[in-house]
Amino acid sequence: MSSVNSKSKPGTQAAGTDSTGAGGYGELEAGVALYDRFTERVREIFDAGHEKSKEAMEKAMESAREQLSAAGEFSAEQGEAFKQFMRRDLEQTAQDMRALSQEAKERLHPARLGAGALSSMARLLEVAGSALQSLSRKAENALRYTTGDITSAGTLTCTHCGQTVHLKRTSVIPPCPKCHGSEYRKDY
Ligand SMILES: [Zn+2]
Repeated sequence: MSSVNSKSKPGTQAAGTDSTGAGGYGELEAGVALYDRFTERVREIFDAGHEKSKEAMEKAMESAREQLSAAGEFSAEQGEAFKQFMRRDLEQTAQDMRALSQEAKERLHPARLGAGALSSMARLLEVAGSALQSLSRKAENALRYTTGDITSAGTLTCTHCGQTVHLKRTSVIPPCPKCHGSEYRKDY
């Protein structure tokens, strides 16, 4: 194990994290690998169940949270934050999968994504089919992503200046490199 508990960069502290209430940013950075494992665990639990509904997804997230908490992997607050991060990523991924061209859908095909949270969620949505798509229909407006949150791979666009930030893997969202803003939209 290398030292995962590295301190975050100075600029990272600036932004408000109104959606999470999660703890320190160093903790969040260390949580990136944990988020990948959390999403994969949710996928496994959801896969194993018969029911493929939004409720089943919530139960799978709660089971995964309990398992990782019991194993001492993360705190209660971190577990709750991860559930929020995953709900948002799932909704965004589901929206994009519906809206995207066939070519873009190919890019999001699980087989092309390798490991990580995005791969887990793409595979999960493939299994869930239309059951989870209804949940995102009412949230058609762009979901907001905030500096300091953890999210799967994708492209963030600063809502203030339009600067894009490409995340090749699961990451802690940085401040905007151009205007130091802290709010983004996301796509793939
Ligand atoms: Zn910006």
